[in-house]
Amino acid sequence: MGADARESDFLVIGAGLAGLYAALRAAEHGHVCLLTKTSISETNSAWAQGGIAAAVDENDSPQLHREDTLTAGRGLCDERAVDVLVREGPQCIKELERLGVAFDKTPSGYELGREGGHSRRRIVHAGGSSTGQRVVARLSELIVKNPNITLIEHTPVIELLTADGVCVGAKVARERAEQIVLARATILATGGAAALYLRTTNPPGATGEGIALAYLAGAELADLEFIQFHPTALAVPGARSFLISEAVRGEGAYLLNAQGERFMPKYDERAELAPRDVVARAIWEEMRKSKTDHVFLSLRHLDPKGVRSRFANIYETCLQYGLDLTRDLIPVAPAAHYTIGGVRTDLWAETTVKNLFAIGEVSCTGVHGANRLASNSLLECLVFARRAVEAAVRGDLTPLASFPKGKGESSPPPLGEESTLSAIKQLMTEHVGLVRHRAGLEYAIQQLSRIESESVGLVRSQALVARLIAQSALLRTETRGVHVRSDFPHEDPNWQAHIIVHKDRPVRLEKYLQKESL
Ligand SMILES: Cc1cc2nc3c(=O)[nH]c(=O)nc-3n(C[C@H](O)[C@H](O)[C@H](O)COP(=O)(O)OP(=O)(O)OC[C@H]3O[C@@H](n4cnc5c(N)ncnc54)[C@H](O)[C@@H]3O)c2cc1C
Repeated sequence: MGADARESDFLVIGAGLAGLYAALRAAEHGHVCLLTKTSISETNSAWAQGGIAAAVDENDSPQLHREDTLTAGRGLCDERAVDVLVREGPQCIKELERLGVAFDKTPSGYELGREGGHSRRRIVHAGGSSTGQRVVARLSELIVKNPNITLIEHTPVIELLTADGVCVGAKVARERAEQIVLARATILATGGAAALYLRTTNPPGATGEGIALAYLAGAELADLEFIQFHPTALAVPGARSFLISEAVRGEGAYLLNAQGERFMPKYDERAELAPRDVVARAIWEEMRKSKTDHVFLSLRHLDPKGVRSRFANIYETCLQYGLDLTRDLIPVAPAAHYTIGGVRTDLWAETTVKNLFAIGEVSCTGVHGANRLASNSLLECLVFARRAVEAAVRGDLTPLASFPKGKGESSPPPLGEESTLSAIKQLMTEHVGLVRHRAGLEYAIQQLSRIESESVGLVRSQALVARLIAQSALLRTETRGVHVRSDFPHEDPNWQAHIIVHKDRPVRLEKYLQKESL
């Protein structure tokens, strides 16, 4: 195959960790076209702080990692997918090191961090709390040098192309024209949708269009109602909701309410290290009781030198807002952080559309259940990117010659109005946020449907994804993991099921299937 980016063996859409890693692995087998709507450095992956969870320590094991993941997932994890994740995780860390990523080490091995919901120190990190940036920078270097990879930045995919139910590539908006990229395997790695909320830890590009692209191409989506709110994003007027990593609590930071009292021990015996859903809900409750919009993180009792070196970028960012992480109380509140649901895949990242794979945050492999365990998402990017490429290589991929060519080259649809996106964010924040109820969800669905029908281009896709999230949230009449309903405040065993959405079929519930342990 030549280097023409319009025809490739592999089309990888998205250049976060999942897309970069998949592209590098796929390049061992053929030509790769790697597309990203932003620049290669503007991704959630580059913003990741805490690190990558993997059972690499001699006091740890995949079995323990599995148990912690299942406990956090509140009965909805796909146990087979979790097995794959925890077993293949350590190998992926080794592979990153082979590619030149330098993880933080002590003389005796990895310097492992601890985060909420983990029973062991198992978070591998790089550059203290700059893990994402370090890993992405190294992989990007390799991508740019790789002769088998054509990287095209600032080029959004606007449609996935199918022929007889098989994905054959994508339509992109490039230089004011539509173009077509044909590929034998298409790997969707477009990240999540948490930037559909006003208060979010994500970069602005994380608006979930990849989920809409797959849906419109006929793929099944699952678990969309589960949007994880990170408990501790900076809450300073005028500042973006900068994430204060969970690793900070892992190293002993306390959460204090408006009265200066440490409150987590009264909500959960794991206190500040309870899983994210528990901590976020406790913070919400404390804010409600004291009628404030934040609580505080306190690191004042920790060794200042250790805090400055382990959390250098958090320390520097707080300083920009006049807050010294080692001395001041840091105002924090929950913010939309992670899209647990997405494009449904099997254990090999295959979607329900042939030759379309989904990896990373856009996918729903089932590893996170109803609540993602901290630092399992970068690991999921790696493990399932590798699997997607393996499956694509051994799969029955249609030769390019049989695909129609020469379409396109017309004007792309407009990208949509910024003000419409703001309206979507407002609705999602007010009615589909951390705590939901029927009336609010119904109102949001009605308004989002209207926006969708009146919009074009990317904003239409964003409204579609927002509506599907709200509809799934309305359907799930219980509280489980990150999905909290004030009108259904308890977990209901009848709801141990996944909500599966498809464009041409009625919504379907799939019961949870248990599997033998490792
Ligand atoms: C502040 C922060 C800290 C985090 N810390 C951690 C952590 O410590 N550990 C952990 O495990 N997880 C962490 N996470 C979560 C983790 O970073 C993400 O889940 C993960 O990086 C997602 O990677 P991805 O490759 O799937 O998507 P992303 O990194 O979001 O990349 C998506 C890519 O898709 C592209 N794209 C999107 N739509 C289109 C389109 N239509 N056409 C073309 N390209 C498109 C984007 O431009 C981008 O290149 C953190 C997240 C945030 C926001």
